[in-house]
Amino acid sequence: MRSVEEHQRVVAGLITARGAVATPVPDALGLVLAADVVAPLSLPGFDNSAMDGYAVFAEDVAAATEESPVTLPVAEDIPAGRTDPLTLAPGTAHRIMTGAPLPSGATAIVPVEVTDGGTETVTIRRASRPGQHLRHAGEDVTEGTTVLRAGQVLTPAALGLVAALGLADVSVVPRQRVLVMSTGSELVAPGTPLLPGQIYESNAVMLAAAVRDAGAEVTTVAMTADDVATFRGTLLEHARDADLVITTGGVSAGAYEVVKDSLGGEVEFVKVAMQPGMPQGGGRVADTGTPIVTLPGNPVSALVSFEVFLRGPLRAAMGVPQPERTRREVTLGESLTSPQGRRQFRRGVLDGDVVTSYGPPASHHLRWLASANCLLEIEEDVTEVAEGSTVRVWDLT
Ligand code: AMP
Ligand code: MG
Repeated sequence: MRSVEEHQRVVAGLITARGAVATPVPDALGLVLAADVVAPLSLPGFDNSAMDGYAVFAEDVAAATEESPVTLPVAEDIPAGRTDPLTLAPGTAHRIMTGAPLPSGATAIVPVEVTDGGTETVTIRRASRPGQHLRHAGEDVTEGTTVLRAGQVLTPAALGLVAALGLADVSVVPRQRVLVMSTGSELVAPGTPLLPGQIYESNAVMLAAAVRDAGAEVTTVAMTADDVATFRGTLLEHARDADLVITTGGVSAGAYEVVKDSLGGEVEFVKVAMQPGMPQGGGRVADTGTPIVTLPGNPVSALVSFEVFLRGPLRAAMGVPQPERTRREVTLGESLTSPQGRRQFRRGVLDGDVVTSYGPPASHHLRWLASANCLLEIEEDVTEVAEGSTVRVWDLT
């Protein structure tokens, strides 16, 4: 049997990053920058007002107090967005709004709150320091400065900065494009009536969500019957547009194992020493070269396998700084048994620093996984874990 680590290496080796692409800024949230962002202009781009008020020469209002206010004629009104150049004459004021360009000559902004708010003349009740409430060109960003580095994740604030710099596109590591295929002649799409012996398809829905949750893109979600020609046809129709194919089902030891039967020469089918998720496979679709990872069909096995083998490499191929789930050593709140020779991944609920297993270990109990917040990892050679022991968990939150 192959070890978990060895199969992790095999799968990681199949998945490679795509070349950098220019992406429209609004679509780039969560992606990783492929190149530094150098500011093509300064921010602010021009001297402007930090307050709604009046642009003045500071010395003209130096004597203003509550008891002896200073009154000045208002020569201009400057809302934000006014584009014609203006000059302030000594002994006058311009009414000005936040973000509006400072008239040349002005040395301070008097906030509207310490004036009578006049539009013909303005009476000012407080002195201003030179430079008060001014924003200077370039005080946030100087043109030519590197403001974001390659490898940084684009957060909302980073996208705001890029937009403020006037850039429409950013160079990013593109999302991995994933084709998700589920197999099984018993499967029916949710929303349609079931015949006896049929079940609703859930793996493809779940794995497509897991792919998106990892930051990758799902190109197609397909469900095929256990029929080699149908499977092969669907695979070849969509594999070329994908960087990775993930299948579920059809890889264990029974008859009608459609994935095994369809991919004999291209995929290496192995048993991995883990529970759940023992039957695994990986390789490349011969016709397209697309990497393909074949997960087992039981829903818990499928999702645990995605977590153990695919999530980290997919995120790594998109340049994510910390591609792996956070793993922590915590205290076990109960006693557990585990099979000899298998790495066991139990569903767990972590509360503070204490974890308890959640639901039975069998791989069809999806209900428990749906409300678990961690995977509890028990080593191959451990068969009993006493309450109070230290165990490792993978934080799924
Ligand atoms: P298989 O590996 O194809 O033998 O499937 C193992 C078990 O998982 C069987 O009980 C299947 O019915 C079930 N199963 C396989 N694929 C899916 C799926 N896409 N959605 C829900 N259950 C599935
Ligand atoms: Mg099946």
